[in-house]
Amino acid sequence: MTNKKTDVLVIGGGPAGTTFATFMQRNGTNVTLLEKEHHPRFHIGESLLPMNLPILERLGVLDKIRSIGVPKLGADFTIGNSGAAERIFYFRDALGASPPHAFEVRRSEFDRVLFDNSRQSGVTAIEGMKVTRVVPLADGKHEVNAIDEQGEEHRWVTRYLVDASGRDTFLSRANGWRIGNSKHASAAVFGHFRGVTRRPGDDQGNISLYWFEHGWIWMIPLRDDIMSIGAVCRPEFLRTRTGTLDEFLLEILESLSETAERMKSATTEMPAQATGNYSYFSDRMSGPGYLMAGDAFAFIDPVFSSGVYLAMNGAERGVEVAEAWFSGSRWNYALARYRFEKDTRRGIATFSWFIYRFTSPAMSYLMSDPRNALQVVQAVISMLAGDVYSNRSVRQRLLVFKTIYNVSLMLNWREWLADRRLRLASVRAASEANG
Ligand SMILES: Cc1cc2nc3c(=O)[nH]c(=O)nc-3n(C[C@H](O)[C@H](O)[C@H](O)COP(=O)(O)OP(=O)(O)OC[C@H]3O[C@@H](n4cnc5c(N)ncnc54)[C@H](O)[C@@H]3O)c2cc1C
Repeated sequence: MTNKKTDVLVIGGGPAGTTFATFMQRNGTNVTLLEKEHHPRFHIGESLLPMNLPILERLGVLDKIRSIGVPKLGADFTIGNSGAAERIFYFRDALGASPPHAFEVRRSEFDRVLFDNSRQSGVTAIEGMKVTRVVPLADGKHEVNAIDEQGEEHRWVTRYLVDASGRDTFLSRANGWRIGNSKHASAAVFGHFRGVTRRPGDDQGNISLYWFEHGWIWMIPLRDDIMSIGAVCRPEFLRTRTGTLDEFLLEILESLSETAERMKSATTEMPAQATGNYSYFSDRMSGPGYLMAGDAFAFIDPVFSSGVYLAMNGAERGVEVAEAWFSGSRWNYALARYRFEKDTRRGIATFSWFIYRFTSPAMSYLMSDPRNALQVVQAVISMLAGDVYSNRSVRQRLLVFKTIYNVSLMLNWREWLADRRLRLASVRAASEANG
């Protein structure tokens, strides 16, 4: 057993953990970052948002990400088997100052760039080191136990702890703080394919989304003619599978004329994987001597590609909280925590409103053929770009969009009721399946 001390210890070397570690170390604090795997490693979450770009620039890695990414100018939405053309939302039409594009990336490459950048910034970044136990000590310090790949145990005493362990939700699980989302349940099956037809010209990097009977499908174009494809559905639909995951995913893609057409010359590049119901929150986000960032706190749904951005944004904001802790003023710390938690919840809530309604008939109709009263389309694009924190005009226009949606619901209340019943039944079934 080795014993070490550190000012800050971060669990998890994904986007949240590396972002926090790099900024904190650059501010002159000694940071240790522990990652259980080795980069490069596969991870889902390949479509970024424009608002990621300023963070990547502040981290100093924007050029590297540009060299590994596919430019993404927008997102297109299609109601499957409807015969209607896709509706394209271009980021350049957003309100405010969000960048006019984002990138699609292989997460193995993206996360490696972020991890190497942490190390180059002076972070003690260790791979193959799995955190196994955290024990709170006096004065907000924590004892962190970890095990390396040779089975040797390691122990750190840290003055501040950041849980960025992603959907492993280390602190939440260990303390019984993890709560399944009572409003939403979904599961996903996904894989990589080669030779899938891309959108023409400058649109070739856009993400495509298709509604189908049991959920929605994504197509994310990556470099070297690879397309990441996934189907997000109610967990009980995933349980109806009788064949392999690859067969199940291909059956879904074949069931829509629009996706079947794009798959005509496709070959499988990576066996399909599945993830069960993943929508949850933690009861706590921060406390004496610790905070959580990214998926370690909450994850709702991938539909608007918000996960990586929310994780990195939260991690950057979290640096102020840790600094307030080191200032020694309880008042500063309480205030910083309050701001951090409020902003984090606001970002999640803005996306959640759309996520919970995404598969409803009213939403598919509005997103595929929206009325542009009072620039609501531009506000929706700003939301798609990730501009959900401080832009007041975006927030006001999103309210108008919500009003239009609610009116449309009243006019089609039977469909709404049926969709709501299905969604809540799905949440109940998922929580029963999880015990
Ligand atoms: C089906 C699906 C599709 C998605 N698509 C998108 C998308 O297109 N765009 C998008 O932005 N987001 C997407 N997401 C969400 C995205 O994957 C996450 O929001 C994002 O990766 C969160 O980053 P993070 O740093 O919080 O966690 P992670 O990226 O999960 O990183 C956590 C890290 O912690 C490490 N770790 C865990 N436990 C320990 C431990 N005990 N000790 C040491 N290390 C540990 C893990 O190995 C991992 O490297 C998707 C999610 C799903 C489920």
